Amino acid sequence: MSAPSADIQLARYSFQRKLDEIAAARGRATELISLYVSPGKQISDVMSYLRNEYAQSSNIKSRTTRKNVMWAIESLMGRVRGFKEPPKNGVAFFVGNKAIGADKSEPVTFIVEPPEPLNTYLYRCDSSFFLDPLLAMVHEPEMWGLIVMDRAEVTIGVLRGKRIEPLRNRQSLVPSKHGRGGQSAHRFERIIEHAAHEFFVKCGEMSNELFLPKKDVLKGILIGGPGATKEYFVKESYLHYELQQKIVQPLFDVGYTDEYGLRELVEKATQTLHGLDLTEEKRIIQQLLSEIRRAEKGLAAFGENDTAAALEAGAVETLLISEGLRRRRLTLKCAACGHVFKKVVPDDAVEPTTASPCPSCRAGPLSVTDNEDYVEGLFRRAQESGAGIRLISAESEEGEMLAKAFGGVAAILRYPMATRNPTPRSAPPG
Ligand SMILES: [Zn+2]
Repeated sequence: MSAPSADIQLARYSFQRKLDEIAAARGRATELISLYVSPGKQISDVMSYLRNEYAQSSNIKSRTTRKNVMWAIESLMGRVRGFKEPPKNGVAFFVGNKAIGADKSEPVTFIVEPPEPLNTYLYRCDSSFFLDPLLAMVHEPEMWGLIVMDRAEVTIGVLRGKRIEPLRNRQSLVPSKHGRGGQSAHRFERIIEHAAHEFFVKCGEMSNELFLPKKDVLKGILIGGPGATKEYFVKESYLHYELQQKIVQPLFDVGYTDEYGLRELVEKATQTLHGLDLTEEKRIIQQLLSEIRRAEKGLAAFGENDTAAALEAGAVETLLISEGLRRRRLTLKCAACGHVFKKVVPDDAVEPTTASPCPSCRAGPLSVTDNEDYVEGLFRRAQESGAGIRLISAESEEGEMLAKAFGGVAAILRYPMATRNPTPRSAPPG
């Protein structure tokens, strides 16, 4: 099973990060407005709804709250008007005055085009932004393909979160192998095998038609059935090669090949499904650790600086990033000596950083000339150098080690990097 593409992992990361930011905003009163516009909605209807809300809000008693809510709706109308029609998946707006410390607030506006279609049209004014419909997309973004089959029947479906959707069912015309004998047995056998082959081709075609358009979001394909047919179907590659790669091993023995069989398949696979991702993550971190432990020529780098150097050199095979990493990468310039350097800082440490003096001349004040999201920057640089990328969750012990002991970034290398320290490296932390 292969990891999702870098683009998909990056999109997921950026989406999650944006939601974190929106979720952190608090209003000083009920004055933060969330507006979800589903794909089929008429913009003119949304506008007239907002005009009505605007009129209503003039009744709000508190002067400050009234002013803030009216500003937010007005600003929202300006944004909504910018759309001729909702985007493909709909759009969510979050507008309001966010509290920033004692008695202060600042206006914020977030516009989110979700990765999946919104089926909600909703307006809400509260002291925090309403994110449930978007959070649901983060937590269940993945899909599994399901096939249960034998020579007589196939049922194809998908598992989305915990929901099983049967998509297609077909009976075959393959005659039963039993109950025939005598002279015609051999010829009959050939007819059966030909009919079975035709049926498997059909099963493959139906699966390709259903799964290929979803191949980027399909985490894997689970295949089950009562006998050896499923093994034959997989071994003979009746699926498109891109789907063939997504088949989860082992195949599962289930008693039925109808909708009930899909349920049985999911039940049997649940244990495996739960473990699959973590197992893959454990494996790759274990590989990293054994490379780090090698006294010489280990194919590993860890921590910000070494990983950055390896990326720069184009030496990274797979970049490993801890999922929860939230940092910024600043480019700082000294006003006195002109020294330019990059520094990775925690999310909220931008201003304290510019307050410290220039590390080169120890005098000049620093200013930020560039400020990028650290993880997005890593993705970009990894893609430029052709490196693979894996976001690693902190759910396993290994994932936690990456997050805590290695500063959240490490890399498996294509070739060993010259270490700055020529003596063999000591054992890694942990
Ligand atoms: Zn300086």
